Amino acid sequence: MVGGVNDCVFCRIAAGQAPATKVYEDDTLCAFLDIRPIARGHTLVIPKRHASELADLDAEVGAHIFRAGHRLALAIRRSDLAADGAHLVLNDGTAAFQTVPHIHLHVIPRRHGDKLSMAAGLLLRRPRDPQTTAAAIRAGISALENEDETSAEKGSKG
Ligand SMILES: [Zn+2]
Repeated sequence: MVGGVNDCVFCRIAAGQAPATKVYEDDTLCAFLDIRPIARGHTLVIPKRHASELADLDAEVGAHIFRAGHRLALAIRRSDLAADGAHLVLNDGTAAFQTVPHIHLHVIPRRHGDKLSMAAGLLLRRPRDPQTTAAAIRAGISALENEDETSAEKGSKG
C-alpha cells in the first residue's frame, strides 16, 4: 500500500487506529494535540486523506485546513488556556523541517510575556495534562460556536 494507512502515523490517527488526543474532527480533517508540544495547547490540523507535501494537497482541502486552524486559534483565545495570539505554521518539505511526511498545520498558542516558557518548550517539548488541555480547547470551540449563533440571530433580526 503506497502512502497507505499502515505506514503513516497521521493516517492511522485520522482513521482512529493510533492514539491521539483529538480536539476537532469532520469528514475532511482532524485536529489533535501535538505529542511534543512547544506550548500548552499546541495542536496539529491534518487532512484525513494522505498528502505528503503541499504538492500533493488538494487546494480546497488546504483552504479547509487553514479555516480550521483559524477557528482553533480563535477558540484557544476563548479557552481556559487564555492565549493572546498564535502561530499558524505549515512546514512544507524536509528542507523546511517537516518531520512527519503527512501535511500538518501547527496551531501554537502564544501569550504575552511567554518568551522564556516558549524557549523551554522548544527544548523540552513535553505534554502537560493533555486531557485537560483538550477539554479546554473543545470548550473554546463551543464558546466560538455560541458566539456565531448569537451573531447570526442578531443578523437575522437586524
Ligand atoms: Zn498519511
